[in-house]
Amino acid sequence: MKSGAPLWGIDLGGTKIEGALVDPADPLSALHRLRRPTGAEHGYEHILSAIEAVVDDLARVSGLPRPVCLGIGTPGTEDPASGCLKNSNTVCLNGRPLCGDLSQRLGCEVRIANDANCFALAEATWGAAAGADVVLGLIIGSGTGAGIVAGGRLIQGLHGIAGEWGHNPIRNESVPCYCGRTGCVETVIAGPSLERFYREATGEALRLPGIVSRAIEGDRIASATLERLREKFSEAIAAVMNILDPDVIVVGGGVGNLPLFYEEATRASIARHLFNPVVRTRIVPPALGDSAGVFGAARLSAPFTA
Ligand SMILES: [Zn+2]
Repeated sequence: MKSGAPLWGIDLGGTKIEGALVDPADPLSALHRLRRPTGAEHGYEHILSAIEAVVDDLARVSGLPRPVCLGIGTPGTEDPASGCLKNSNTVCLNGRPLCGDLSQRLGCEVRIANDANCFALAEATWGAAAGADVVLGLIIGSGTGAGIVAGGRLIQGLHGIAGEWGHNPIRNESVPCYCGRTGCVETVIAGPSLERFYREATGEALRLPGIVSRAIEGDRIASATLERLREKFSEAIAAVMNILDPDVIVVGGGVGNLPLFYEEATRASIARHLFNPVVRTRIVPPALGDSAGVFGAARLSAPFTA
């Protein structure tokens, strides 16, 4: 994107609020970047104050006035109909008009997107998928989120649910999901689901890194857990690819760190489910690390006309 005024981004997390001032001409060396604790246990008003304090900290260290537009990445999603947040694991945010309240408090425009969308936007603009037209950014960790960027623009959707592939159903799966349905992708391939599969087969509770180590040592059930991840991921992502047919898929998150996503065997597995005999889609690891959230939030604050 073109150079211009610094972009202001806030990544609102469950435990910390990160703020950054990003130069669009040289985004990877953020001009200023700082953090404060979220203090979610003190409630919604406290979070608003803490965000305002981060903005004022950034203004002070940079010598700039408060922004005219601020991007913010949040846990959960804004319901476009009500303007209130929903599905946030920082529960005091749910049902609250965060964007409107912040806009009023800061006296500026505030643009909001969930953290998976910010991840996708950052990786599509400045990261592993820079220059690609249609980008799907996945976060596979304790849950499964995703964001879609097309032509440099984030697609949030009428209901704000664009990219929520984690709650598509997988065939022959029936574990209840927190969303009220059963057999969701998230109940099969997210980290806790993989750990549950191993535990139910062996009686032993192991975290995912332990299961991966066991697989390398030749543990048959650990290997089966990872092969199941490959197969179920392939089925789930092929359903998304049949609709979106992205140029690049960026796979982030704790589970997304596993090398299996980039192996030829996974590509072959996806091809068995895809409505096309070959998979030419680039499937790549993220390039921005833990900066993607705040960089994506900053990118939100710029016009989508770069
Ligand atoms: Zn679900």
